[in-house]
Amino acid sequence: MIFHVITIFPDYFSSPLKYGVIAKAISSGKLEVNLVDLRQFTTDKHRTTDDRPYGGGAGMVMIPGPLSKAIESVKKEKTDLEVILFSPAGRLFNHELAQELAKKKELVLICGRYEGVDQRIIDGYVDMELSIGDYVLTGGEPAAIVVIDAIGRLLPSVLGCDQSAKNDSFATGLLEHPQYTRPRTFMDMDVPQVLLEGNHKEIEKWRRRKSLELTAKRRPDLLKKAKLSAKDIEYLKGIGSKKDEKE
Ligand code: SAM
Repeated sequence: MIFHVITIFPDYFSSPLKYGVIAKAISSGKLEVNLVDLRQFTTDKHRTTDDRPYGGGAGMVMIPGPLSKAIESVKKEKTDLEVILFSPAGRLFNHELAQELAKKKELVLICGRYEGVDQRIIDGYVDMELSIGDYVLTGGEPAAIVVIDAIGRLLPSVLGCDQSAKNDSFATGLLEHPQYTRPRTFMDMDVPQVLLEGNHKEIEKWRRRKSLELTAKRRPDLLKKAKLSAKDIEYLKGIGSKKDEKE
């Protein structure tokens, strides 16, 4: 998969893409990140990418000319390429959307700066506006890192089988169960006995239950969409009635 990232700060990406699973995916050719320096598409000696907003007001707006040329430079005659603009007004990025986008061959990620981009770029080129949360960043670059990382780890054979994404939070529709490793006792707290006994059926049951408990407590909204078995539903009812008794 190829990400074409349009940015005024291409160097911003050098460090985050150098580490861990994503760096390996890049070096093995499973993932490609093409950094497109927006300033290369400017025409004046100051390499200007922004101007004052029509109608007045605070801040600057990214001018459409260089953005248009930068997008065209990667689009060429390709038809199966999706153009994404980072924006607080965009569709909220989540696991479902990451899975959907992981099926694409090439994505163009436009990193806004200042007060955002001229609306005509959105109307003329953008297939999807994407937000990574209900807060405002200074630019789209951190959002691009988040999106590349979340999608990159879902690409085929990017994670080893010992790091499978299948059981991760959200992939199952639930939050993941707690994890433990050595030592068996730490700060007077023991690893749950069931994890030490080697009974895989019991371990799976414990993990599923912990996952259900955590999701019910922290993200009950997820339970509405999760695939739950009759046993899961029964267990959740049990948790609910215990809570009711306490209240
Ligand atoms: N004036 C804009 C507004 O109020 O919606 C905010 C612009 S922000 C300072 C500059 C750029 O950061 C945006 O154009 C966008 O590319 C990026 N950005 C800011 N918050 C974001 C978010 N929550 N998700 C994705 N990108 C974001």
